[in-house]
Amino acid sequence: MIAEVIVDIAHSEVDKIFDYYFNDQRITYGSRVVVPFGRTFVEGIVIGIKEKTDVPQERLKSINRLLEEMPALTNELLELSRYIADTCFVSRASSLRLFLPTEMRKGRVKEQFVKLLKLNCDVGSVINSLNKNAKKQRELLLHLSLEDKFLMSEMNKIYGASAVNGAIKKGFVTVLTEKNFRAPYKEIIGEGKNVILTPKQKLAVQSIKQSENKVSLLFGVTGSGKTEVYLSLIESTINSGKTAIMLVPEISLTPQMLRQLRARFSSSAAILHSGLSAGEKFDEWWRLRTGEAKIAIGARSAIFAPLKDLGLIIIDEEHDGSYKSESSPRYLTHDVALKRAELSDAKVVLGSATPSVETYLKATNGEYNLVELPDRVNKKPMPDIEIVDMRKEIRRGNNSPFSSALKSELEECLKNGNQAMIFLNQRGYSKTVVCTECGHVQKCQSCDVSLTYHKEDESLLCHYCGAKYKMIEACTECGSIYLKHGGFGTERVVMELKKLFPTARILRMDRDTTQNKEGHFKILNQFHNKQADILVGTQMIAKGHDFPSVTLVGILDADMSLHFSDYRSSERTFQLITQVAGRSGRAEESGKVILQTYSPENEILRCAINYDYLAFFKHEISIRKATAFPPYTDIVRTLISGEDEETVVSVTKAIFNELSAIRQKSPEKFRFFGCMKSPIKKLQGKFRYQVLMRIEANDFNLKNEIFYTINKYNERNVNVYLENNPSNLS
Ligand code: ADP
Ligand code: ZN
Ligand code: ZN
Repeated sequence: MIAEVIVDIAHSEVDKIFDYYFNDQRITYGSRVVVPFGRTFVEGIVIGIKEKTDVPQERLKSINRLLEEMPALTNELLELSRYIADTCFVSRASSLRLFLPTEMRKGRVKEQFVKLLKLNCDVGSVINSLNKNAKKQRELLLHLSLEDKFLMSEMNKIYGASAVNGAIKKGFVTVLTEKNFRAPYKEIIGEGKNVILTPKQKLAVQSIKQSENKVSLLFGVTGSGKTEVYLSLIESTINSGKTAIMLVPEISLTPQMLRQLRARFSSSAAILHSGLSAGEKFDEWWRLRTGEAKIAIGARSAIFAPLKDLGLIIIDEEHDGSYKSESSPRYLTHDVALKRAELSDAKVVLGSATPSVETYLKATNGEYNLVELPDRVNKKPMPDIEIVDMRKEIRRGNNSPFSSALKSELEECLKNGNQAMIFLNQRGYSKTVVCTECGHVQKCQSCDVSLTYHKEDESLLCHYCGAKYKMIEACTECGSIYLKHGGFGTERVVMELKKLFPTARILRMDRDTTQNKEGHFKILNQFHNKQADILVGTQMIAKGHDFPSVTLVGILDADMSLHFSDYRSSERTFQLITQVAGRSGRAEESGKVILQTYSPENEILRCAINYDYLAFFKHEISIRKATAFPPYTDIVRTLISGEDEETVVSVTKAIFNELSAIRQKSPEKFRFFGCMKSPIKKLQGKFRYQVLMRIEANDFNLKNEIFYTINKYNERNVNVYLENNPSNLS
């Protein structure tokens, strides 16, 4: 027989299907195999089987060996990988890579086995027959009689290898070899309330189950009990013999969800995310593949979980930006979920308090089933949001990060023994360092971006490429020592808070304080256990966390995201404010939110403080329509980057000319077409130019044509790629 194999090599030149001969009956669709390739051997995946090949007999090579008996991928997943290759414009090899744990490829991680001891005799009679000197052996046998099996390594440690081996030799004990599951988050034990669904939750569950529509939007305010709806849906999916995928926007939210899943479904839940060790990932992946685990939970990459008979996919906080992959393959998780659901006849539930404009439009169009949970379970109103005009504060001579209103609310909150959260989306001490004499702004040497001052280690850090420089004492341009800090970061806010409230216990949570896997967990736990009074953080603290004692939330820079060039900035601002505000007043005491801004009359902020999603949506969708932005068009960006600016410019010109020709054929499909430097014109030493287009929505053929036109310009010294509705246009 002949197998069609995709070899695991990244170059686009080898993005071909290769034929190999085999006669091993176990090889089938989705099998991982080792094949000869050039002068070496590489891993590959079988994507097709046929009787004949066009490859001449003398050149046809044979599959070297099969890697695992069980095919790594099901037919459905092979089909899904083809869809991703086609729609994200990547090779089959790189789309297949999404489906396998990285460490599994190239055999960098394997199954682990352990030896166990099991008693094989009647302890009572054997012990009496033993030699008086065999004290250790006697103790060992007694120990083994306590339970079914024990780890051999443990017994060796306690009683010594000679006693253990003696007992084995005499046949009192047998040795078993079993697979060892390296399970992540062993310390997390199931914990969940036994709730009875409210009538509204019941209706939501019914509507999702009974709807003709495969996709439902569960639109419910924060605290409306969406999680219980998810759990109930998962339960009935499992009970009907099917499996489920549950996606959350961030790794830091998985432990919390895992706790609830383990309470209901014990070891049926498996976790997949990049924070696990290689062994853990490998074992969890196989537990899902073999069907031992039936629920996969994780961030966006868990959409590729190797589950069979999939019945349900849940995307919690569906509006979150993390569902869009920013590196190749640049997929949007929603699209993959919808395709996967179609292939396996599963349901999709998108949950959010602030759905993305695209999703809500589809829900009102009837394309998705709209299910609403308008009230909080505990009937508590959402906290009051007070807008503070920071322009007035400055006029009054207040240059601190805190308005007087926020200061007095903080005082009150601390006095009452409650907790506060302070949110701002800037880490470090100050956003920029500026010379007051010549106005020079300190910039990264490899990127066209200003450097952020981090006081903790007296460094200037590039937040784009990670380059670290020593903090300067004088301007690098003119030598002046009069430097000014522009913009507050979390470090500075903590310092100012310590001045204002010397006895308050303050925690900071941002990328710098959460470097390792447990970082998140530790800070959140400390705050949850009331070992701190104030938590200062970036958007990491905005998501999903439930702190009952928080009664005050301060939003320091509500404007920051409002003035980005991104077309989604209004949407992001609305979502962020709603989400951060939802952290306040979740339990008995009611909460308060102070929102500081330089544009208090802004329409989006007005909608946000009234928790008026519909008003926001109407406003936003009319602007998108009028200006021809998504979902009414698709933004397609061709990015050209390279170290030599001249080469980049000439390639950009050539691409622009070819694309112009395409545009001339059907000008009506192009709502915008332009060629320019990228907003960040240099990144990691590479110059960046772009051809930016807004084209008719969902025109796959046109995108395909654009892709094939530009792809041939990909060379060693110029990198060219296509982005479809990128979430970041910098
Ligand atoms: P959401 O995900 O919509 O923000 P959650 O699912 O976290 O809301 O629910 C908010 C709170 O209400 C949680 O503490 C949850 O345990 C509780 N809750 C949810 N449903 C019920 C119910 N039917 N009965 C009692 N408590 C519930
Ligand atoms: Zn840089
Ligand atoms: Zn200067």
